[in-house]
Amino acid sequence: MNELTQYPGNEYSILCPRPTCQSCGSQNIHTRNYGRRSGAALGAALGGIAGYTQAAEEVSDLSTVSVAILAAFTGALTAGLAGCALGKFVDDKILENYQCRDCNHSF
Ligand SMILES: [Zn+2]
Repeated sequence: MNELTQYPGNEYSILCPRPTCQSCGSQNIHTRNYGRRSGAALGAALGGIAGYTQAAEEVSDLSTVSVAILAAFTGALTAGLAGCALGKFVDDKILENYQCRDCNHSF
């Protein structure tokens, strides 16, 4: 069983590491991650477009297309992390959507 199967809904775990239980330290946390998932996805999409557009405006010949693509990935990663951070704030401070599967501590 891989991690994505074991923790459905945490497909953005690369950008957004799972929280740790504040009570027992377990990482077996149930979370909806509404804000985090939407924030990371939205940020990655916007960042990818912005990065590609900005680079594409600065380069015109075919040899530098890879630069634009790289810029798109960089933009997506950067903005995805920013979106994740914003979503994490919403999740942590507003939604309080975590529950430990080991000790049932909610936070
Ligand atoms: Zn716990």
